[in-house]
Amino acid sequence: MQVSAQKIVVLGTGGTIAGTAAQAGDNIGYTAAQVGVGELLAAVPGLQALAGGPLVVEQVAQIDSKDMEHGVWRALALRCAECLADPAVRGVVITHGTDTIEETAWFLHSVLDATKPVVLTCAMRPSTALVPDGPQNLLDAVAVAASTGAQGVVVVAAGAIHGAQRVQKVHPYRVDPFSSGDAGPLGWVEEGAVRLVQGWPAVSQGKGLAAMQNQTADAPWPWVELVVSHAGASGRAVDALVRDGVQGLVVACTGNGTLHHALEAALLRAQAVGVRVVRATRCPEGQLLPTPGNALVAAPGLSPVKARISLVLDLLG
Ligand code: ASP
Repeated sequence: MQVSAQKIVVLGTGGTIAGTAAQAGDNIGYTAAQVGVGELLAAVPGLQALAGGPLVVEQVAQIDSKDMEHGVWRALALRCAECLADPAVRGVVITHGTDTIEETAWFLHSVLDATKPVVLTCAMRPSTALVPDGPQNLLDAVAVAASTGAQGVVVVAAGAIHGAQRVQKVHPYRVDPFSSGDAGPLGWVEEGAVRLVQGWPAVSQGKGLAAMQNQTADAPWPWVELVVSHAGASGRAVDALVRDGVQGLVVACTGNGTLHHALEAALLRAQAVGVRVVRATRCPEGQLLPTPGNALVAAPGLSPVKARISLVLDLLG
């Protein structure tokens, strides 16, 4: 099959990119996830030409991504896996809210064998804004999906291409809210051309997909909670979670994986009764360096929310 005949599949999940406000100038008082993904694409001139082949649109969900659920992740992962296995598909674009896009990106990176591009995109302003950012982000995302040699799960916004592992939303308002910290973005999209300054992400082994295929859509996933070490911390929340049957705990540590002594004691008690405990750092840049002899394992290079996803997938088997 010729590359030009291959299609790009665009999966809609909602977010501000699909949001509407009563007033065109209102960039914060809007409702996310109102406009269908087909309508969003139809409003972007030049998208079809940039794709270089058919653009196929599917609405997988229509939610504000602050409410992202495991069931939507499962549906998204299974549909992406089908697309990746289909020789007629060149790549996948996913429209998503900015709030949890980094989590969905890490989840998909972890479960998919993404030898083709899976490009998540979003917007900070609703579709009704005076100057919406969604249309340009869609153009850039399609440019990445159509780019020769592209692979892996990436987030494209405000002209930057971020890898799933490092990307974080670091600003609640500005039109470019993402950072990959000291790792920097993988590259840029400039007038439809991709300029890569690092390689495409390595493709993961794709763990957890089989377990999801064998489950029903509403089957509960392993219960993993986040706790934070901070001044004045105690172990009471951890003890209560253990009493309630939590299966895993990710702790957002201070600095290089250090913990308030009271919280640490509770986490060690939890681990002793079979709860999986993982340390990540609260620091937005850099990554945990190994500290030999620590009884609680670390998740180097992962933010606490991404370490939570990895632990959920581990427990899911
Ligand atoms: N709350 C929105 C969402 O994550 C924010 C956004 O998309 O910018 O769906």
